[in-house]
Parts: sequence; C-alpha cells; structure tokens
Amino acid sequence: LGAAAGGGATGSFDIGLENAEMGKVVTRFPPEPSGYLHIGHAKAALINQHIADMYKGRMLVRFDDTNPSKEKDEYTQSIIADMQRLGLRYAGITYTSDYFEQLAECARRMIAKGYLYADDTPVEQMREERMAGTPSVRRDRPVSETTAIFEEMLVASEEGQRHCLRVKLDMSAPNKALRDPVAYRCNLEPHWRTGQKYKCYPTYDFACPFVDAIEGVTHALRTSEYKDREAQFYMILKLQQDVWPGLPHVTMWDYARLSFIYTVLSKRKLTWFVENGIVDGWDDPRMPTVQGIMRRGLKMEALKEFMLGQGASKNMTYQEWDKIWTINKKLIDPVCPRHTAVEQSNRVLVTLSNGPASPETMSVPKHAKYPPAGEKIQTRTNRIWWDQADAAVVAEGEEVTLMGWGNAIVRKISKREDDTVQSIEAELHLEGDFKKTKLKLTWLADIPELVPLELHHLGYLINKKRLEEDDIFEECVNRNSRTITAAAGDANMAQLQKGDIIQLERKGYFIVDAGVEHGGSVVLLNIPDGRTKNMP
Ligand code: ATP
Ligand code: MG
Ligand code: MG
Repeated sequence: LGAAAGGGATGSFDIGLENAEMGKVVTRFPPEPSGYLHIGHAKAALINQHIADMYKGRMLVRFDDTNPSKEKDEYTQSIIADMQRLGLRYAGITYTSDYFEQLAECARRMIAKGYLYADDTPVEQMREERMAGTPSVRRDRPVSETTAIFEEMLVASEEGQRHCLRVKLDMSAPNKALRDPVAYRCNLEPHWRTGQKYKCYPTYDFACPFVDAIEGVTHALRTSEYKDREAQFYMILKLQQDVWPGLPHVTMWDYARLSFIYTVLSKRKLTWFVENGIVDGWDDPRMPTVQGIMRRGLKMEALKEFMLGQGASKNMTYQEWDKIWTINKKLIDPVCPRHTAVEQSNRVLVTLSNGPASPETMSVPKHAKYPPAGEKIQTRTNRIWWDQADAAVVAEGEEVTLMGWGNAIVRKISKREDDTVQSIEAELHLEGDFKKTKLKLTWLADIPELVPLELHHLGYLINKKRLEEDDIFEECVNRNSRTITAAAGDANMAQLQKGDIIQLERKGYFIVDAGVEHGGSVVLLNIPDGRTKNMP
C-alpha cells in the first residue's frame, strides 16, 4: 500500500496477501450500525477498497447487525450516506440479518455433530472458567439436549433465555479466544430491521466466518489487535464448512488500527459526547466522524492520501492530526480564494490623511496565482480598520505596507488608558517600496457593507494525548473546545456559501459553516493547517 501513497495507483506490489488471485479478490467492509462512521472506519473502508482495486476484484458492504440493543436504522442511513461521501464503490449492500435463517440452520447441523453445546453457566462463572481454562459442566451434554434447548432459545422461552450456545473449541488453549466462544444468545429487544421476528441472535464470532464465506468474501481484513481471534475465525469456519458442503474458504489479513492523539475513536464514547451535549451532534466539526472532519474542512482526497500513506503497516501508533491537516493544506492553499477580516473587538480606525475621501472600488483576483478563483471588489477609502494586534506593534514614523494597496507611514498613535490603541493617523506613501517594510498589514475600508463574521477556533474534545485503560474518560473531556471571535469581513464575503473554503489573509484557512443566507453572521470554522497548534 505504501508505494501507492499520493498517486493513488493500484499496482500489484506485494502486501503479503495470501491466496490472492487477480480478478478474484473479494473484500468487505462490515460496519455495525451502532453509530456514525469515524475516521478509523474510513481507514477500514478505504483499505478494503484499495485491496479490492489492487487485485481488480470487488468490495462488498455488509452491515453487521447481530446486536439489536445497539443498532438503529438512523445509523444505517448515516453510514450509507458517509460511504457515498467517501466515494466508495461497492458491489452491493447486505446485512448479517439476511442470513439469520441459514445461520440457525448451520447451528442446528453443528449441534447434531456435537460442535456446539447449550450452556446455562451464569455469566460471571463462565468468565472465571474461561480465564482458568475450566470446562463447563455442560460441555459434554448429549446432542439431543442441546438440540431441544436451542429450539427453546430461538423462541426465547424461559428455559431458552437461561442458556447460551457455545462452540466447542479448546478450553485449555493459551489463546483465550479459543476457549469455547459464545455462538448464540437471546435478546428480547426488537431488532431495527427484523423487529420481533427473532429473539435469539448469533454472535459476531459465529456469524462472521459463515457469512463471509457464503457471500464469497475471499479476504477478510481485520485490525491487528484482533490477531488473537484469527485462529478462532478459522476454527469456527472449518466446523461450519464441515456441515455446509461447498462453503468456501476465507483468508484473513490484518492491518493497524488507526488512533489519533487527543481523540477517542469508539462509538460508545462518541455517543457520550452527543448525548451529553458536549457537541452539537455526530457531525459537529470537533468530532472525528467522517461528517465532522469534512464539515471542518478536510478534503476527501487528503483523507485518502493520508490513509494510503499509512500503508500496510500492522503496528498501531498514535497519529498526529498535523499530518493529515498538512496534506489538506497542500490541496486547498493553491486554489482557495483569499479574503480579509478584522477582529471586531478593539479594532482600530486608521485615517489616511491623503486617502480617497469617497470610496473607490476596483476588481482584484481572489487568488493571485489562481485566476479561476475569480475576482473580488476591493474598496479603498481614507478610513480603514486594522486589527488591534497590528496597531499595537507599529511605531510612529514607521512605514508599513497595506496589503494589496501600497505603503503608508504611521504619523500619530492615540492610546487608551489601558495602553490599547484607540486610533491612528497615517499617510499613504504609494511610491514607497513594499520590499523595505517589515509589516505587511491586512486592512478593511470602513464601509457599511462589511460582513459580520464569527470565527470559530476549535480544539480537541479531550485534553489527554493518549487515553489509557484506567483513565476516567469523563474527567479527560475538554469542555472548552470552541472559541468564537467576532470579526468583520470584506463585502465580497456576503456571497459565501456553506462549505466554501477560503483563506483569511494572515488568519488562516476557514470553511463556511453558515453563509449570510441563514440570517446572522457568517460562521467560519478554522481549518487547521498542520502548523498552528489547535490545542485548547
Ligand atoms: P468502534 O469501537 O469505534 O465502535 P468497531 O470496530 O466496533 O469500532 P465496526 O462498525 O464494527 O466498529 O467497524 C467496522 C470496521 O471498521 C471493522 O472492520 C473494524 O475493524 C474497523 N475499524 C473500527 N475502528 C477502526 C480503527 N480505529 N482503525 C481501523 N479500522 C477500524
Ligand atoms: Mg465491531
Ligand atoms: Mg468497538
């Protein structure tokens, strides 16, 4: 994969994919509809797509919906929309629930062969026995008993609900994933897709190998922290193949789980942010969801380039957000229009003694090196606004450059009691050489058409670089992750629309979250450029 970084080429270099035949590789992206897609899922989807493309095969999408307690139709719809945003090409969408009948039939056949047994060991005790490698007292119960109990489980009778179905693998295996994993358990909650039809559901461990095989998936990709479960997958598949003639083989391939500093990537924790109102929703621009990062101004091409750069490495490392935003900046900087804004608070009125008394307008390019960005109107008057931060550092007698206009000499600086600058008198010196000035300043003509702006600077949602197992997550939440600054923008900004990406001269890159059409100020979200630290 590494070799394809940037170019997006799909050559057939070696990534160590076993049993891969050109034209025959089938991969699958298996989201559970229990939340919105996040950037980790995007890696999973893109890597599946990439490997399918590399071998001129295809990728399937299968919703892994075996746990009715966590899943919702809303999540399914959002995942489908996000897969479109990611530009995924997939051969079709299926659901594990499409196979519930076949899975139950497979389980019946496996029971008949003595591969599965019904167990009513209490959950806690079962956990202890698994840790200790102690077989359940039910392990060798007669096939006829398990056969009868499984039917009770399927209708969730009282007797059925007390049991689960387990796969007889190897209770003494050092790999605990092999110590008789659960295959089926009852759940009375309605399933978002099948309603009350089923009351007993296969586990992921039991369903996944069977459904992968029956759908013709040749390569099942899994993140490497589940490497332990590879043996389990193969063993369960083998038992299933034994009772299901013609069930094909599936080869597993693992890759590194994606993690970012100052970021949680778990649907459970992301749900917590949404439910506790820390963020506005799953698409909040501070969320590491596909919708959140795109709303924040991350281009899909940047995301893909970053993922391919991750390559086929199997080592989980924490990624820096700077890396992905740097790639993004390289894509947006050459094309995005330039605008100007001055912060509202403490802005400084500068009078230009020899400036135009009535406003003069002229058309200038929005991007000096990229004409397709179009033109904008620049207005010049003898009254202009500066940021307080700029006014605070100029000296009387100093010559500065007004960007896009020319030089001016500062004549008089009036300060308030608190030492902030109240106003400045200056004189245009257009024959002055801009190469000789130290300060190139942004400015805006004082005209009524200036556009009110809200500049949002966003920080991370958690304040710890790496969350450890024993960290109390709620205590690491940054409750101060958004700073809003009021500003005035050039009149051209009235035309901005949601999703437009611009650069505010000397202030950075921004994406329009709400244009003038929504009524209030134009809302601009700062897009990190990989250099400015966006820490709280
Ligand atoms: P989460 O803990 O965020 O809910 P999950 O693995 O339970 O993640 P799924 O919907 O089951 O969520 O994941 C779909 C696919 O995405 C799986 O193949 C999973 O391995 C993969 N995946 C999930 N998180 C990451 C990640 N951080 N990096 C890479 N792949 C991931
Ligand atoms: Mg999962
Ligand atoms: Mg998970």
